[in-house]
Amino acid sequence: MHLDQHVSLKPYNTFGMDVRARYFIEPKSRSEILTLLNYRSMIRMPFLVLGGGSNMLFTGNFEGLVIHISSKGIQWKEDVDGTVLVTAEAGELWDDLVGFCVGKGWAGLENLSLIPGTVGAAPVQNIGAYGVEVKDCIESVHYVMTDSGKEMHLKSGECQFGYRDSIFRNSLKRRCIILDVTFRLSAGDSEEKPGTAHLKLDYGTIRKELEDQGISSPTIADVRNVVCAIRRRKLPDPAEIGNAGSFFRNPVVEGVTRDRLLSTFPTLPWFPDISGKYKIPAAWLIQQCGWKGFRDGDAGVHAMQPLVLVNYGLASGGQITALMQRIIESVQNRFGILLRPEVNII
Ligand SMILES: Cc1cc2nc3c(=O)[nH]c(=O)nc-3n(C[C@H](O)[C@H](O)[C@H](O)COP(=O)(O)OP(=O)(O)OC[C@H]3O[C@@H](n4cnc5c(N)ncnc54)[C@H](O)[C@@H]3O)c2cc1C
Repeated sequence: MHLDQHVSLKPYNTFGMDVRARYFIEPKSRSEILTLLNYRSMIRMPFLVLGGGSNMLFTGNFEGLVIHISSKGIQWKEDVDGTVLVTAEAGELWDDLVGFCVGKGWAGLENLSLIPGTVGAAPVQNIGAYGVEVKDCIESVHYVMTDSGKEMHLKSGECQFGYRDSIFRNSLKRRCIILDVTFRLSAGDSEEKPGTAHLKLDYGTIRKELEDQGISSPTIADVRNVVCAIRRRKLPDPAEIGNAGSFFRNPVVEGVTRDRLLSTFPTLPWFPDISGKYKIPAAWLIQQCGWKGFRDGDAGVHAMQPLVLVNYGLASGGQITALMQRIIESVQNRFGILLRPEVNII
């Protein structure tokens, strides 16, 4: 494990911000992460745990230690009820894990195909897509406290998972490093489990795309392929245009707020939220304010996805946050709703 200095973070964040880390270290195993925590002087300086940098916006150099988690490994065992417990190290690429599980015929993660980033970051914001949140499959999260070096486990029900939220974004924020995550997956495509009851096909255009391809009894692999195809079509590839996916969370409002908005904006879309409140698509609010396709220098709002802010090349983090602020203000002025960023601004 080498401690490097003045390292460019451009290859380590999907927005492509060319900022530097004062110190940079890359633990390649769980034991290297634990060893690192023994060097108290390192952890006493400001530090940042970095996975794939796909949910980060750097607004300047980081004058502390960036810990780039690169631990690899996947283990599994069958449980008595026929489910499979899969444990993946934090530095595994998320989509590699999904591909691995789909290849084994284990169901649960396929709708979360092609989300960038690492396994260790997945519980942090409870990643979600196409009607599935990762909390639905998480059994437990194993982490180490950075102040004491103590290893801890949380069962899924203790992680305070919510919409793009968890204990790791709140009381444990900047206080722990996730070492590995255990998922409980079902045997999926098997003779004991025929049919498609174990698949989630009713979100977005998954079912229609499968029908268009003439697939009436889809496998887990079919669902993964369709989700990947939809995502490739709809979302900008960070390798071509810098971005961090959805920049804002969808606001969740009370019934009275929804009704007030509907009386002025009858086409307002809304969805019931598990909290009993109502989720309003932030993309719709932003589009109504005329931001879709907006560009100011190299900072912009994607032409197809108004929820995605983009760096066309040389935008700085400051220019992206200035654009973010303008969008927040215009949505607030028009709808009285405060948008909150989903992306971590550093
Ligand atoms: C094109 C694109 C599409 C996307 N689509 C989706 C989507 O459909 N659904 C969705 O939910 N998200 C989506 N995202 C956002 C992003 O992929 C997820 O948030 C992902 O989980 C971030 O993983 P990461 O490894 O890149 O985390 P990073 O950006 O490196 O870190 C994110 C946060 O997690 C913390 N963290 C990272 N690793 C650890 C660890 N081991 N221990 C403790 N804390 C840690 C970091 O400190 C930071 O606070 C998308 C992003 C892009 C660029």
